[in-house]
Amino acid sequence: MSREENDSIKEKIQQLKEMREAIILAHNYQLGEVQDIADFVGDSLDLSQKASQTDAKVIVFCGVHFMAETASLLSPDKIVLLPDENAGCPMAEMVTAAELREMKKQHAGASAVCYINTTAEVKAECDICCTSSNALKVVSTLPEGKPILFVPDKYLGSYVSTKSGREFVLWPGYCPTHQRIVAKDIVKLKEHYPEAKVIVHPECRSEVVALADVALGTGGMLRYVKESEDDAFIIGTEIGMIYRLRKENPLKRFIPATEQAICPNMKLITLEKVLWSLEEMRFRVTVPDRLKDAARETVEKMLNVS
Ligand code: SF4
Repeated sequence: MSREENDSIKEKIQQLKEMREAIILAHNYQLGEVQDIADFVGDSLDLSQKASQTDAKVIVFCGVHFMAETASLLSPDKIVLLPDENAGCPMAEMVTAAELREMKKQHAGASAVCYINTTAEVKAECDICCTSSNALKVVSTLPEGKPILFVPDKYLGSYVSTKSGREFVLWPGYCPTHQRIVAKDIVKLKEHYPEAKVIVHPECRSEVVALADVALGTGGMLRYVKESEDDAFIIGTEIGMIYRLRKENPLKRFIPATEQAICPNMKLITLEKVLWSLEEMRFRVTVPDRLKDAARETVEKMLNVS
């Protein structure tokens, strides 16, 4: 796309945004061009907080389906649009409500905690949800002496279990994008850039997390880098994060743990699709009435803890 075409799309998006009284929220893993036109860019926790606070009538959610669904739960009177209806999260699809009910039956009395990367149906079955940035805090509010059922990410669950010293029953889910980051990539990069700090997302494999200086969600990564006196960082997460880190820290160096950590679902959202979404008011994301109250309660409990 030429620069002129790009500018013309951006201009049309701005006009439509005003006309529709819309706000554009974008996840840190979105394409750079999408991050640049967003009113707010953030991690899952930031975005769910923004969605619950905005006065806009329409929320264009540049992310994946469960995020738009969470925005709809928190803003039931607003229109929530996902610019590509196929932008789902494979990890969120790895556990169903029926499977979780079965797990709860087998571990009666346990607390059920879900990662925010779950469907509303699964959230409705849980006591509370969490993001990678507040998981430890959420777990600290749960009754002692009871195991914690954690779905769906086995790596995040295992990380929080180790850090909190709590007994977790893990579900075998994982993020296929973070799974592409392997220990030998980190070892090689550490040899090559011995001065660099290694920051990885807790969705990474446990052996990758063990090699890192610190494991943080994307919001935590931004804060860590800004406050750090170091100037080189090996980053183990989805590649879109590198764009934001470089943009906000132009004097620091960021080395992706692998160029292969690309989430194809996040990358389905483009500038053109954001425009079409605002033009045609598509694709609207809603939550079935039967799930709304229970799923919202699970998310609101997390927001209260945060
Ligand atoms: S990066 Fe992983 S967890 Fe995030 S949306 Fe993509 S598949 Fe889901």
